[in-house]
Amino acid sequence: MRILVTGGAGFIGSHLTDRLVGQGHDVVVVDNFLTGRYTNLTQASTHPNLQILHHDMIERPARDLLPSPFDRVYNLACPASPRGYGAYPIETLLVNANGTLHALEIAQRDGARFLQTSTSEVYGDPTIHPQVEDYWGNVNPNGPRSCYDEGKRFAESLTMEHVRRHDLDARIARIFNTYGPRNHPRDGRVVPNFCLQALAGEPLTVYGDGSQTRSFCYVDDLVRGLELLMETDGLAGEVVNLGNPLEVTMIELAQQVIDLTGSTSTICHVPLPKDDPTRRRPDIRKAQTLLNWEPDIPLASGLGPTIEYFAGVLTLQ
Ligand code: NAD
Ligand code: UDP
Repeated sequence: MRILVTGGAGFIGSHLTDRLVGQGHDVVVVDNFLTGRYTNLTQASTHPNLQILHHDMIERPARDLLPSPFDRVYNLACPASPRGYGAYPIETLLVNANGTLHALEIAQRDGARFLQTSTSEVYGDPTIHPQVEDYWGNVNPNGPRSCYDEGKRFAESLTMEHVRRHDLDARIARIFNTYGPRNHPRDGRVVPNFCLQALAGEPLTVYGDGSQTRSFCYVDDLVRGLELLMETDGLAGEVVNLGNPLEVTMIELAQQVIDLTGSTSTICHVPLPKDDPTRRRPDIRKAQTLLNWEPDIPLASGLGPTIEYFAGVLTLQ
């Protein structure tokens, strides 16, 4: 198959690209490298069937940049960390609006299947727990996270209108916190921060009292779920949570990273950012039923290669 991956130079997109080229597909990555890196694609770039294009999806790509036909379009282009979208809020809103429209137009043009990567952030600071797909969320529409939360909600709506009005075969993945090698070391997310701090023997910066929870999915489990959601027949218009239901507090995560690294680091508390969700855990029954998918990799197992990756980053500095 010929497959388009927008945002393919990012953390998740590069792992997805590795998987798809490894299966023998022709893959075209489109990325503007706002938060992604060429080095993420070092492994995949040895495959002759990978093409990497530098383009900003906010601008409609010329037809000859992305000529027909594509069989599949994965839409991942979007800054994803609070620091990333905090630095580029307007770009984040626009890539979810214009960028998603342009990716949808390509899928429509070619009769391709489309997968939108949405997020658990559409649930905001959830009032029900764990989060099921038919929960509408509790989102601050104009707070510091709103460029991302509302951008992704708009992108979901745009995708569903293409299903309803244009009969597009599109699916929506609501991805929960994902971690692993190639997570950008400076994107401010908790796993890279804690790993780098523990490895350097510095205090781990727990925001607030650390009682807030997240559920962390290893990136290999996640990309397997994305592929299953794309390739399972009969799922047009379905919205599916993809994440690991094991929920931990940030204090527990900090302690686990300290233990696994054998670090002498302590824990320090710094102010909690505004609108930081208090808890988050996916209900994955829909993914289990429709895709026969659930994560296989426990947090301790996934943190091993992740810590190794960040140790390699430190030696390069
Ligand atoms: P990332 O920042 O590493 O990757 C995003 C990629 O999109 C980057 O390579 C970036 O350069 C590219 N990009 C941004 N704006 C673009 C534009 N206008 N045109 C072309 N390319 C553009 O983030 P990630 O963690 O790999 O996330 C990938 C997708 O998954 C995102 O859509 C994100 O919202 C979603 N997601 C991620 C997580 C997570 O925990 N990592 C959780 C929920 C949802
Ligand atoms: N966090 C933390 N220390 C850090 C970075 C983040 O305690 O150095 C907390 C943050 O407040 C949030 C959780 O870890 O409660 C996850 O943050 P992250 O930015 O990784 O993802 P998101 O907030 O988007 O879930």
